[in-house]
Amino acid sequence: MDDDDLALAVDVGGTTIKAALIDPAGSMVASEHRPTPQGDRARDAIAEVGRSLLAQCAHATVVGAGVVVPGLVDRGAGVATYSANIGWRDLELVRSLGAEWGLPVRIANDVASGGVAEHRMGAGVGTDDFVFVPVGTGIAASIVSGGRLVSGHRGETAEIGHLAVGTGIPCACGQDGCLETVASASAIARRYAQLSGHDVTGASDVAARLSTDPAARQVWQDAVDGLADGLGIVSLVVAPALVVIGGGLSRAGDALLHPLRDALRRGAALVHPPDVAVSALGDRGGVVGAALLARDGWAAES
Ligand SMILES: [Zn+2]
Repeated sequence: MDDDDLALAVDVGGTTIKAALIDPAGSMVASEHRPTPQGDRARDAIAEVGRSLLAQCAHATVVGAGVVVPGLVDRGAGVATYSANIGWRDLELVRSLGAEWGLPVRIANDVASGGVAEHRMGAGVGTDDFVFVPVGTGIAASIVSGGRLVSGHRGETAEIGHLAVGTGIPCACGQDGCLETVASASAIARRYAQLSGHDVTGASDVAARLSTDPAARQVWQDAVDGLADGLGIVSLVVAPALVVIGGGLSRAGDALLHPLRDALRRGAALVHPPDVAVSALGDRGGVVGAALLARDGWAAES
């Protein structure tokens, strides 16, 4: 492999498919995006955006492709098993995309991809016990323990958004009191709108009102307390040295980190609470992880 060999990386999100050609240092040489079609039609959009990028850089050597998707993934079979968001079931990707692009293709879950990217090239470099928590429309986690990505029998994502933290609010999953009901970026915006009567476009609008608006402060504090409770449970189980917050909420920066660190320190059961940081790679984490997947199948994590 030459130093300038590229990887084709595709991050399939609920609304946008992001694709990039990425060099070994993790830099994007070229990128494109498309809206994500619902259901099985997503496969054709993934194939097309990949073809378009490869045609743009026909002179370059591309060593392989990594495609990361939401929901459940059978990495061995090369099938995206289930995404509630995009509405596919058993979507075969590896064989058909490989034939179309003329490249070896690997697939994996998008939260795991963000976690591996932060571990190897972002905010988690230098620690082997680390949890990546993207907070957007939902909340999930990717756990690296002893340098290895924790993998359950149905995938690599920890569904910590549905940890019961006693919020008393019904969750879409059917339980009451899930972390997501107060601490997802969507819940923060929704609860602020309910409490204040003012519509906002997202959690960042609520963060911007913290110094002037008691309703914003209350909703924010509920989110911080919920996150501290949820991360406290995770910390009691796997004892990470560092928690990295990603997704839309990470853009709040210190307005999130300072109260979250304080709340975790107050958690009496945690003798060594983890440090908390925000994502270093931001929106690029998914494609950077997909490029690493293309290059070595995340061998360093398994
Ligand atoms: Zn739930």
